[in-house]
Amino acid sequence: MEITEQMPTSSEPGALYKAGSIPLCVPEMQGNEWKYVKECLDTNWVSSAGPFVDQFEQMTAEYVGTKFAVATASGTAALHVALLVAGVQPDDEVLVSALSFVAPANAIRYLGAWPVFMDSTADSWQMDPDKVKAFLDKECVWSDGELRNIKTGRRIKAVLPVHILGHPVDIDAIMDTVSKFGIAVVEDSTESLGGKYKNRMIGNLGDIACLSFNGNKIITTGGGGMIVTNNPQMASRAKHLTTQAKTDPIEYDHDEIGYNYRLSNLQAAVGCAQMEVLNNYVETKRQIAHYYNKNLEPIEGIRVPLEMEWASNVYWLYTVLVESQKFGMTSRKLMQALAQQGIQTRPLWKPLNELMPYKYCQTYKVEIAPTLYERALSLPSSVGLDRNDQDRVVKGINDAQV
Ligand SMILES: *Cc1c(COP(=O)(O)O)cnc(C)c1O
Repeated sequence: MEITEQMPTSSEPGALYKAGSIPLCVPEMQGNEWKYVKECLDTNWVSSAGPFVDQFEQMTAEYVGTKFAVATASGTAALHVALLVAGVQPDDEVLVSALSFVAPANAIRYLGAWPVFMDSTADSWQMDPDKVKAFLDKECVWSDGELRNIKTGRRIKAVLPVHILGHPVDIDAIMDTVSKFGIAVVEDSTESLGGKYKNRMIGNLGDIACLSFNGNKIITTGGGGMIVTNNPQMASRAKHLTTQAKTDPIEYDHDEIGYNYRLSNLQAAVGCAQMEVLNNYVETKRQIAHYYNKNLEPIEGIRVPLEMEWASNVYWLYTVLVESQKFGMTSRKLMQALAQQGIQTRPLWKPLNELMPYKYCQTYKVEIAPTLYERALSLPSSVGLDRNDQDRVVKGINDAQV
């Protein structure tokens, strides 16, 4: 099951299981994972209580630099609860990146709130802070202590910037814009654990942030997530809501509608072992990226990803742009050519405003995101990718060019 999930539709399914094929991004379990999981089984602490859950939360908070961390069943669950404790209510609006995996938009809708899709910048590919500012200044009005979208009349309650592919959003510019309006900034840091913005850790930049430990993320617990924040009220309410909002464990009293969103001790055991090697992973991912950069930059029509001067990119998925006029074929044709050689690659996500459930939602000048979607191709990026395999990917791209 997990294997198919990590290896989505982008290349021929058969090729993925052939010996010698190079997958897009797979986990690496070389540390204490086995030892810690065995400890859970030996002691019978397998479920949502147990020492590894607390330890995993502590290690994560320490790594990101926040005061609090609350483990969750998934990154999507983390987003759902983070938005809730940030005060998002039914019929509110949340500004979110158009170019992203779908989970943040879904989390907004779980609350009965509405996404407003924002564009990417051409250089960093992240949420464009100038367009956020222009939208709030020109399309919204401040009245009775609330900011309202002029067109829909709805209240703007949060901004949800998604740090895509390991690179940070220019978050200071967004914070500057929204702080005077009392709008919460909820970071989707699920793809960018270990990345930095102006030397500050991604996940410790806004009011509250969400991490994911899904199978193909920087580190994994097989599935899981985390909410991190410095805000004690948000942290304790998040913990409460993710544990069924139980107030009395004997009488089963609950003071609001809660969720079963806890991470199990088994998963947290894997998480602790993965946290121990995270610094190495970040370093390895950056080396992989630098080697790709050096070898792909000379190829006509291939644009390597930028790292802005204020950023440290963890290159979750190393992604290039294929300029089809110059390269001689589209990103999708290159994907097929590489699949034939057993090299799995993948385009970025279709912009969320083009998806069936979101077609009728508001967008604000989403112009760059569709061109990135058309051109981008993510290359094999596993921590375990060796130089031989990387050379094969580079050669594959060179050979594909006619
Ligand atoms: C992976 C991902 C998520 C969701 O994480 P899960 O743990 O799979 O629920 C959310 N947002 C983005 C941008 C992601 O890439």
